[in-house]
Amino acid sequence: MKKTIKDYELSGKKVIIRCDFNVPIENGVIKDESRIIKSLKTIKYALRKGAKVILMSHLGRIKSEEDKEKYTLKPVALNLEKHLKRKVTFINETRGKKLEEAIKNMKNKDIILIENTRFEDLEGKKESNNDKNLGKYWANLGDIFINDAFGTIHRDHASNVGIATNLPNGIGFLVEEEIKKLNKLINKPKKPYIIVLGGAKVSDKIGVIENLIEKADYILISGGMSFTFLKAAGFNIGDSILEKEKIPFCNKMLEKYPDKIILPIDVITAKELKANVKTHERFINEIEDEMGLDIGPKTVKLFKQYLNDAKTIFLNGPAGCFEIKEFSKGTKEILKIIAESKAYTVVGGGDSIRAVKEFKVEDKISHISTGGGASLAYLEEIKLKALSVIDEK
Ligand code: ADP
Ligand code: MG
Repeated sequence: MKKTIKDYELSGKKVIIRCDFNVPIENGVIKDESRIIKSLKTIKYALRKGAKVILMSHLGRIKSEEDKEKYTLKPVALNLEKHLKRKVTFINETRGKKLEEAIKNMKNKDIILIENTRFEDLEGKKESNNDKNLGKYWANLGDIFINDAFGTIHRDHASNVGIATNLPNGIGFLVEEEIKKLNKLINKPKKPYIIVLGGAKVSDKIGVIENLIEKADYILISGGMSFTFLKAAGFNIGDSILEKEKIPFCNKMLEKYPDKIILPIDVITAKELKANVKTHERFINEIEDEMGLDIGPKTVKLFKQYLNDAKTIFLNGPAGCFEIKEFSKGTKEILKIIAESKAYTVVGGGDSIRAVKEFKVEDKISHISTGGGASLAYLEEIKLKALSVIDEK
């Protein structure tokens, strides 16, 4: 078991908490604060225990000087003040005298938010390549390091691996909960266990398919990725999205697990991916020179039969191009079935979470994983860099 924030005496200690404040911001306005809200439990706990709280996070990707204005964490400091009802001192640098002075002058229960860790990527990708000196420098600013950023737990960055290897450390409540809930999908999941995969590409999900197919009873495949499977199964897929180089992988899976992999039987097609375009409902052996952009109603019905009996369901990847109304029905229907299910239900993936919110089923899903790539990596049971360096109890 990993050490957690609860394993430390925090009073008077400078506690660095690596959060995931990677929220969508437009013109200084936060468009979705759910990641910030999920971080509050750990921050409030540290405050209650009388810590000096130093918060760090990345935001977006920093490739040029201009990106800095767009991706400053300043709006997050203001948002945090609103939720915590305490002053949050924002320091607009990632290292330097101002930061060091501010930390030196902290009193118990003070809060500092350091500027976007990826500002350090401008010169030699110091944050994203885990520059050893940068990790050490940040570690020197505190006494204890708590990693509560699940979204980057599979990354080897200075602000997670770098600091953790130089300080006593543990995980926060958000990461602890993610692990607990995702573990239910790997360790003795209640059966029948059904996995619903979708999204654009097979290549993003190979590891998950390989690791989970043995544990699951069925894998229902939808979305763009289904077309590489359908092609492998011998269907004409027209102009649908195809990853040619993944056909051998799909073939191998279809041969090895012919009864476990369930493919769509009908699709919604169009000549172009745009709103108000003319659409057709086709059986998969009727696709013409057009693209399959959503699963059809007969596939929804078929998937429902499997999902009805499930005791555990994991969904990753939308069933169609749900961003456009004409191709959103499949995703919406599948999410509704999952929302109404009595099974233990987990949804992971950035776009899938967006769909969950759009179709307003958030409250009816047992667990919505905050990390996209991170939750997949966890389910693949590969070594997560930033978690593996956290001390064991
Ligand atoms: P997640 O972020 O939930 O893991 P992905 O990133 O794998 O999901 O995939 C999301 C994208 O897949 C969406 O933008 C959606 O438009 C796209 N998609 C779904 N179905 C299709 C399809 N039939 N053809 C092309 N793209 C698709
Ligand atoms: Mg995505």
